Amino acid sequence: MSSTRPFILDPLFRPVTALPGVGPRNGKLLEKLTGGPKILDLLWHRPSDIVDRRFAPKIADAPAGRIATLSVTVMKHFPNQRRNQPYRVWCTDDTGGINLVFFHAHKDYIEKQLPEGAKVIVSGTVEKFNDKVQMVHPDSIGAESDFESIAAVEPVYPLTAGLTNKAVRKAIAGALESVPALAEWLDPALKAREHWPDWKDALLTLHNPPGDNGLDPLHPARARLAYDELLANQLALSMVRHHQKRRAGRVFRTGGALREKLLSALPFALTGAQRRSLEEIDSDMQAPARMLRLLQGDVGSGKTVVAALALLNAIENGAQGALMAPTEILARQHAESLKPWLEACGVSFVVLTGRDKGKAREALLQQIASGAAQIVIGTHALFQEGVEFADLGLAVIDEQHRFGVHQRLMLTAKGKGTDVLVMTATPIPRTLTMTAYGDMDVSRLDEKPPGRKPVDTRLIPADKAEEMMQGIARQVAAGTRVYWVCPLVEESEMMDLAAAEERFDILQARFGGKVGLVHGRLKPQEKDDVMRKFSAGEISILVATTVIEVGVNVPEATIMVIEHAERFGLAQIHQLRGRVGRGGEKSYCFLLYSTPLSDTAKERLSIMRETENGFVIAEKDLELRGAGDILGTKQSGLPAFRLADLAAHAGLLAIARDDARLLIEKDPELKSERGQALRPLLYLFERDQAIQFLRSG
Ligand code: ADP
Ligand code: MG
Repeated sequence: MSSTRPFILDPLFRPVTALPGVGPRNGKLLEKLTGGPKILDLLWHRPSDIVDRRFAPKIADAPAGRIATLSVTVMKHFPNQRRNQPYRVWCTDDTGGINLVFFHAHKDYIEKQLPEGAKVIVSGTVEKFNDKVQMVHPDSIGAESDFESIAAVEPVYPLTAGLTNKAVRKAIAGALESVPALAEWLDPALKAREHWPDWKDALLTLHNPPGDNGLDPLHPARARLAYDELLANQLALSMVRHHQKRRAGRVFRTGGALREKLLSALPFALTGAQRRSLEEIDSDMQAPARMLRLLQGDVGSGKTVVAALALLNAIENGAQGALMAPTEILARQHAESLKPWLEACGVSFVVLTGRDKGKAREALLQQIASGAAQIVIGTHALFQEGVEFADLGLAVIDEQHRFGVHQRLMLTAKGKGTDVLVMTATPIPRTLTMTAYGDMDVSRLDEKPPGRKPVDTRLIPADKAEEMMQGIARQVAAGTRVYWVCPLVEESEMMDLAAAEERFDILQARFGGKVGLVHGRLKPQEKDDVMRKFSAGEISILVATTVIEVGVNVPEATIMVIEHAERFGLAQIHQLRGRVGRGGEKSYCFLLYSTPLSDTAKERLSIMRETENGFVIAEKDLELRGAGDILGTKQSGLPAFRLADLAAHAGLLAIARDDARLLIEKDPELKSERGQALRPLLYLFERDQAIQFLRSG
């Protein structure tokens, strides 16, 4: 898309090495630091701290321990006699004297910086030593004319090995020089109300933070930039949404004879939340616009039956339905759950997975193409390969958090106005839902089916693990099944695996053949095999890395052990815990942690003891850890923000959403003056994939 990028942005998309004084070496380091090679990446790199050098007293008034900027005259140098002695430079003003102290000094450098007789500006921490005033290694030294720039508030940036704060500041100062003035894209009323500066001024302030509240996320400059980022995010989602909705949907009649059949075949009544969600789905399916709905519900909240009832709507109208799962195991489990229900209604279905090859596959494809198969259950991958349907009316996508908006688009692009229902088992806070699924309408299953027993959750310090093991051994002897999840090692699947294998060996030594191991590197077939054995009770303990399938259902499993629970996000623990407590037996979740544990970490884990409501847990996790850490983000499919901090800017997000939706309703092609001004914004925050929707059908 870069060909359509407005020329005015070009300077921001040049590599940092185009900046004066940034060579290939620092260029590499800056790229590592900011996550990108462009000048723009550097501009988004925010200071994490500030040093206030505005205090500029006379020497006699400079208190020890405080950072001060002093205007002094260099009187005399006292070079060190021996290597381990300091080099001293005696300076004075009209109130007194101060020693500037240097260890391992380069004589030439000091003489050049501080020639005797010169008036200089030095800034650093003032100390008292043997009743004398001194400053060890001043942070800044300059000529008198540098006073303004030294006696200022200095931003301190997150760094990487090999880069100094000074080098980063210098590069950023250069980058700021190349920032173009852009036409304002904000709504003038909002900008005035919030007292926000222009974009360019905001950027300058971000890197020259005022002393008092310069790092406050709600400072007008930072808030403006955060809003810009959220607006870009919401605008892109609104464009996707508009594009999807514009394709004519279909009008379905809902709630006919098939629904009646299924409802009377179910051994339970729908919960209030299920009924509400179904009503929302019904009204979408009746409407001529396409349905784009997210069904968000905790593990065990009963999404499957809602999906089944929605699929029957399509069948009832002579169309087909599809249910796509992220993995083969899950596809098969969905098929298992749906089978009795679909049979009760006399609806035909096929299961299509990667295992179906050759003639068998051909036959299945034929049934799908002819419409003989009314419902197709399979993996996402298969649908991406382009299965031909006679008439696909509704696609249900069981997403489980592995998909971003673009993949979602790919999956649904083929259908002719096909309604889309995405199911996700991970409760995420409302604010995050908006950033990731802002293109969709949301239904929440926030109420569990009746009769579920709470899971007894306990925090176990690692040194009490042996006692826990003895308890587990007794339970296993009595036939219990146990999930054992191994530590999450940051960023490394290999290390996850090593930890899991080690645990597997230890448990196998104790429990013999009753232990199995699943991890991400097994072939699907091997994984299925272990899962099947666990499900059938041939093995009692399943050691797993976090790849453990979130939708897997083994009601006989009643113990969940999570090692190094402190390393997991609460939402992840919650998901894992949802694997147990599915049968009639009392269930346990043991959260093993290594000591010492910080107070916050303890507080976090304690929340798991207090509630099983996934939405509450997710909100708390956001509050305590921030959006970046939630769900172990990488695979979560949630967008990452550079300037917006969702814990602090949630209010802005809601405004951005409304702003974007209204805007796209009124000006879907971004042709108005404001619309034109907004185009660069999409590029600035790399949401420009959405631009394609301005032109294509
Ligand atoms: P999810 O997919 O949301 O994790 P499921 O749809 O698998 O949850 O439902 C979990 C279990 O609860 C299933 O055995 C399902 O049949 C059952 N169930 C669903 N809805 C209800 C209800 N309203 N009352 C009782 N049981 C229910
Ligand atoms: Mg399910």
